[in-house]
Amino acid sequence: GAGAPDKVVTTTCSYCGVGCQFDFQVNTKTNRILRVTSNPQAPVNGMHLCVKGRYGYDYIHHPDRLLKPRVREYLLKGEKRPANGERGPWVEVDWDTALEIVARKLVEARDTYGPDSVGILTSAKCTNEENYLMNKLARQVIGTNNIDHCARLCHSSTVAGLALAYGSGAMSNSMKDVAEKAAVIFIIGSNTTEQHPVFGAMIRQAVLKRGAKLIVADPRKIDITEFATLHLQQRPGTDIALLNGLMHIIVQNGWQDEAFIAERTENYEAFLENLQDYTPEKVSAITGVPVERLYQAAEIMGKNRPMAVIWAMGITQHIVGVQNVLTLANLQMLLGNMGVPGGGVNPLRGQNNVQGACDMGGLPDVYPGYQRVTTEEARLKFEQAWGVALPDKVGLTVTEMIPAAGEGKIKAMYILGENPVMSDPDSNHVRHCLQTLDFLALQEIFPSETSAYADVLLPGVSFAEKDGTFTNTERRVQRVRQAIQPLGEARPDWMIIQDLAQRILGQGNRQVNPEAPYGKWNYTNTAQIMDEIAALTPIYAGISHARLEVGESLQWPVRSKDHPGTPILHVGRFTRGKGKFHPTVHVPPAEQPDRTYPMVLTTGRVLYHWHGGEMTRRSKGLMKVYDRPLIEINPEDAQRIGLNGKRMVRVSSRRGSIIAEAWITERVPPGLIYGNFHFPEASVNELTLAALDPISKIPEFKVAAVRVEAY
Ligand code: SF4
Repeated sequence: GAGAPDKVVTTTCSYCGVGCQFDFQVNTKTNRILRVTSNPQAPVNGMHLCVKGRYGYDYIHHPDRLLKPRVREYLLKGEKRPANGERGPWVEVDWDTALEIVARKLVEARDTYGPDSVGILTSAKCTNEENYLMNKLARQVIGTNNIDHCARLCHSSTVAGLALAYGSGAMSNSMKDVAEKAAVIFIIGSNTTEQHPVFGAMIRQAVLKRGAKLIVADPRKIDITEFATLHLQQRPGTDIALLNGLMHIIVQNGWQDEAFIAERTENYEAFLENLQDYTPEKVSAITGVPVERLYQAAEIMGKNRPMAVIWAMGITQHIVGVQNVLTLANLQMLLGNMGVPGGGVNPLRGQNNVQGACDMGGLPDVYPGYQRVTTEEARLKFEQAWGVALPDKVGLTVTEMIPAAGEGKIKAMYILGENPVMSDPDSNHVRHCLQTLDFLALQEIFPSETSAYADVLLPGVSFAEKDGTFTNTERRVQRVRQAIQPLGEARPDWMIIQDLAQRILGQGNRQVNPEAPYGKWNYTNTAQIMDEIAALTPIYAGISHARLEVGESLQWPVRSKDHPGTPILHVGRFTRGKGKFHPTVHVPPAEQPDRTYPMVLTTGRVLYHWHGGEMTRRSKGLMKVYDRPLIEINPEDAQRIGLNGKRMVRVSSRRGSIIAEAWITERVPPGLIYGNFHFPEASVNELTLAALDPISKIPEFKVAAVRVEAY
């Protein structure tokens, strides 16, 4: 047995960006987590937890855990990699052997082909401190801005769009504030009850207990539509038309906030002129939403303030992702809903620490705190701090890095806690590109679909085995506390990154001045890393582990050690000064249904699973409820393809095909199917396409043309 609990450790959930806190009940003798219990002090969730947070922790002790470093045999024998692209058998080795090989290979690529031949992927599942170190490793130690992470695949459109409109890419308000004060809650492209369940529950309460009006715009009848005052069921990829149509009606009726527009915004005239095109009739034809519903929605928005807008991947994962976000930014300026409690723009960040990974410079264009690599002042600051010349060119995004690997431009990669074979579009192409790499080091807790293409596997640890901080979707920085000792020989990720950096710093032709104030890598704990972050990152300047330990709950910007943090952004003034209206234009999705591929596939996740499923597929309780991928299909379509009581369908696109069980349901309208990417045996990313938004480089995961057949 695992014994009885003899220690309680309060920490932060590592699934979604809501950032619930809870207690791990631990037995220190068996080094096991026995259960999760609620902690009434939790600032976001109180006693509430969703099924993943409460029951989805047993993956931590799963026998598949990587407990010792592994390298391919050819490396130990000093041979070249087999020419056929195969990597050969794994051998378990000690840390010195594994890290020496990784250091040597990264240095070799850097010094032979230049620093930009190396690509680094950091992880939205890891802590702020670890993400800061990955950013420092890429820029200071390797000398490249080729660093990115999965935010590219989820909210890069949000970050770019809101930065253009307002000057800051983050969620403006707080979840509690939305739940308690919004008169209208407008959810567009967010399956909130399944993907941010505790916040979804708060919204449900807002509707049921205090009569907040809820408008949901989504092509599917997602669960929360049951509580909605109004459901607008637009066709996938028609959000700009829909929103412009609503704003057209708002302006027609004079419901806009003239005082706010005059005082706090610019470019309103150009925006107004563009709206003229979007008559209700035309918009209805594009979106499939009846004209009278458009009027009803516009009236609710126009006559009730404040309104909070909530969105997620349904808005961002399009070739017009940035334009979608700009359109939402327009709407909130038009109605004067910015800088007030219960209003704002509220993009819900997916991963537990995707906000933090962005904040810490895990992006190819910015240092920590969104200080741009192309701004001389910022670059000089970091050159001085880290004691080495830094590149001034924006690096590659993950969606550029993987194809660059296929073209032989990226030679070596170091990936922390990501599984691109599962999470990136067009899996076949991803596999081909990774196979072409000269060298791939992967730091993970489990062997994954991507480890087939790795040359070295470094065993990191779960969030229960390390210390640091996560930043949730509302910019709240919260402590992650070590509950158990690292399992086997696995090591906290920050220690592995530091060890690797120390080994590389001594090698090859890139010299770092060790006298620089932050040139060295000699952290003995994660609080010291946070102190370095605070010293170099104005929005984190006042954050320290000590403040969090005495119970302060801080939302950035926290500008000094006595600054209380910022629950609402853009109060009185936008980060960029005036808010800027951007005229936006409806553009159809990159791939349209045709005779060969007559249906539309849209993709997402389900409540019980998480992304590539590496953790949740190893959790017994979650697998009991949902153990195989399901494709949602409308009864009309099921009949048309002759499913006739059969359960399996084959779904094909121009890029691949999968076979999965059908779920015949009215959740999807005729012509549309919905699938997820949690299960490698039938991941929808075999079907999706890598058409990218030109600004954010996000792929259009939300629309692909497919053919569906009974199997
Ligand atoms: Fe964890 Fe998100 Fe569930 Fe909260 S809502 S318990 S943060 S997965």
